[in-house]
Amino acid sequence: MSPKNVVVIGAGVAGLTTALLLSERSGYRIIVAAKHMPGDYDIEYASPWAGANYMPVSMRGTQAAEWDKKTWARLLDLALNRPDSGIHIQECQIYSRSKDKGSATAEWFSELLAPNPWFKEIIPNFRSISKDKLGPGVDAGTSFTSVCINTAIYLPWLVSECLKNGVRFTRADFKHVLEARSVGDQLGDSIDLIVNCTGLMASQLGGVEDKSVVPVRGQIVIVRNDASKMVGISGTDDGGEEVCYVMTRAAGGGTVLGGSYQKGNWDSQVDPSLAVRIMKRAVELCPSLTGGKGIEHLDIIRHGVGLRPVREGGTRVEKERIGDTWVVHNYGAGGAGYQSSFGCAQDAVELVEEALHMTAKL
Ligand code: FAD
Repeated sequence: MSPKNVVVIGAGVAGLTTALLLSERSGYRIIVAAKHMPGDYDIEYASPWAGANYMPVSMRGTQAAEWDKKTWARLLDLALNRPDSGIHIQECQIYSRSKDKGSATAEWFSELLAPNPWFKEIIPNFRSISKDKLGPGVDAGTSFTSVCINTAIYLPWLVSECLKNGVRFTRADFKHVLEARSVGDQLGDSIDLIVNCTGLMASQLGGVEDKSVVPVRGQIVIVRNDASKMVGISGTDDGGEEVCYVMTRAAGGGTVLGGSYQKGNWDSQVDPSLAVRIMKRAVELCPSLTGGKGIEHLDIIRHGVGLRPVREGGTRVEKERIGDTWVVHNYGAGGAGYQSSFGCAQDAVELVEEALHMTAKL
């Protein structure tokens, strides 16, 4: 049988993971077409800005929890066996303050903050932190072993793994999803199926225009200081749109200090006063960053802003017939694009096979 030609729109973690898993199967010629590629930093491109860590916020019994569960095994395997992927193992501590109960962050983090979350069954070393080890104002805490991804290494690594499997890459900026069929010219053949991994921009892409995908702005500071662990907390005293987390990336990637969770906010510019609050909260939460000293002892690499592609109802992994072409969607992972990446991509690949099988029968 002749190979099927598939174009994947998007070179974020969703597009690259989907292309990689598809390229591991036989019978496909794959081309990734994207406006932004690893190495670019842009407000329309979420993936480089992520921490990125594995701190599941998906609720027990949901599809999202299944995606996170499947992804854990793959990320752990990479951390243990593929140091070139830029993923390392780190201890993670999650703190909870009673006064945050009911706040937006506490709701978002509710499974993560729970004493018995679903992921306790798959993640090593899950335990409660004893009260005497908790800092001032903290009422409860849990600790577990997790992973942290250096996105500056991991995204190019995904590209390299795809290239090894024969995947091609091209730049493109499509106004309509079906315009992606035009990259068939580069394969000298027609396109059989389109995979849509356009993240937040699925809200504007013609033929999709999914208005339930909205930006949730995350501002970060990356510093040279080492935290040696990942830490997150249920809330801050600076309003419902501000959050606090710290994680040190693998292989010299610096430590990411976050952050914010500003729904509907497209602003790409760094807010300097928010940056100061982020740093103050980080050194308070994690004094080992500066040896107990103030923010003037933080050594800043860069400030950044990324937009989480949050979709009402969760990530869309679905197939759809648009005109006479099958489109498989994998977008809208919000703040969980890495920790759900392999699970969503596996399901997207199954949908590609299903759709092409249906076409063959037509
Ligand atoms: P993107 O990375 O945005 O990629 C979209 C791709 O589609 C790009 O290549 C773009 O150029 C292309 N594209 C879009 N429209 C078009 C078009 N019309 N034509 C051609 N190409 C197009 N997740 C975690 O799992 N763990 C974390 O710790 C974490 N921390 C985060 C912290 C911050 C501050 C932020 C902002 C996000 C964080 N996330 C985290 C979330 C994660 O970054 C996202 O869920 C993920 O990057 C989304 O990936 P994506 O591939 O769907 O989208």
